[in-house]
Amino acid sequence: MLYDNHGRIINYVRLAVTDRCNLRCFYCMPEEGIDYIPRKELLSYEEMERVIALLASMGISKLRITGGEPFVRKGMLEFMQRLSEIEGIEQMHLTTNGTLTAGMVPELKRIGFKSINLSMDTLDKERFFQITRRDYFDTVWQTFEELVAGGITTKINAVVMEGKNIDDLIPMAELTKKYPVNVRFIEEMPFNGEGSHYPTLEWNSRKIVSYLKEHYPKLEKIPDPKHSTSANYKIPGYQGSIGVIAAFSRSFCGSCNRIRLTPQGMLKTCLYDNGVFNIKDFIRNGATDEELKGAFLSALGNRAKDGFEAERRRGFDRPVTESMSTIGG
Ligand code: SAM
Ligand code: SF4
Repeated sequence: MLYDNHGRIINYVRLAVTDRCNLRCFYCMPEEGIDYIPRKELLSYEEMERVIALLASMGISKLRITGGEPFVRKGMLEFMQRLSEIEGIEQMHLTTNGTLTAGMVPELKRIGFKSINLSMDTLDKERFFQITRRDYFDTVWQTFEELVAGGITTKINAVVMEGKNIDDLIPMAELTKKYPVNVRFIEEMPFNGEGSHYPTLEWNSRKIVSYLKEHYPKLEKIPDPKHSTSANYKIPGYQGSIGVIAAFSRSFCGSCNRIRLTPQGMLKTCLYDNGVFNIKDFIRNGATDEELKGAFLSALGNRAKDGFEAERRRGFDRPVTESMSTIGG
């Protein structure tokens, strides 16, 4: 078992396998995109497998593949298969934009993904184009239908943005009537390559819940899974559920069980930190497994109490502006 210096169990790693993406979501990167990391600076598949196997031997049992868009990296399915075979990895999860995933459901089931988070911020084709700056709504919707028909537990990630997709909140909540899915409304964070879009966050989790309650006075609070980042609700009689994620307000740090590996090989013990340890340089300089273990333990022994402390530790000269595709959301 792995614990941090605040006594929190650490059993979950989020692995961002690439910083590349075929969409340009408004909340994640500027229209012109970001400067991608040179290929040789990305962790190789072999390096990622080594690190994940080591973390699994230390107590990590849950793995999420994210990015960038995982499927823009060649050989991704085979890589995922190999990760799923690592001893100690009991749960595989995936976050994807669904543009390259249509038709892959049988393979994803075979790999054994416990659940898949599909990013879909709107049900309107035109608004999808405005938000993602690409015309892929029909493909993403097809992926959604295939995931549900294939019986894979599906969660929809929707970032809530004033002036962009507020008219979608109720239609998306309505999806839970017909489909047994969890629709998650996420507070927008400043991880977009430029910095905050707003002086203050208008659509915080409280406002999202109030808005939903206005439309669904009988909206019911349901228990949240252990270590959940979402507060969960249900509309009585509907098949699915609704989650609200206070990603910017950061009200869930007390039970945070996760760490992150960025595509460029930085360890992050908090989404809001600036990367606490450069794994890639360490292993490329010949670190042994024991040395690597020691470095992980030392980083976890100095973990920020919450996202606010992690942000303060960055210093004023390094504000939170990097694109989420370089972190893995
Ligand atoms: N490309 C994949 C996708 O979009 O699902 C995986 C990577 S993406 C960075 C992971 C998640 O981060 C997505 O669900 C996206 O909505 C979320 N995300 C990205 N930028 C965000 C931001 N600035 N605020 C809140 N969520 C964000
Ligand atoms: Fe790409 Fe995902 Fe970022 Fe959208 S949120 S630009 S799909 S990495």
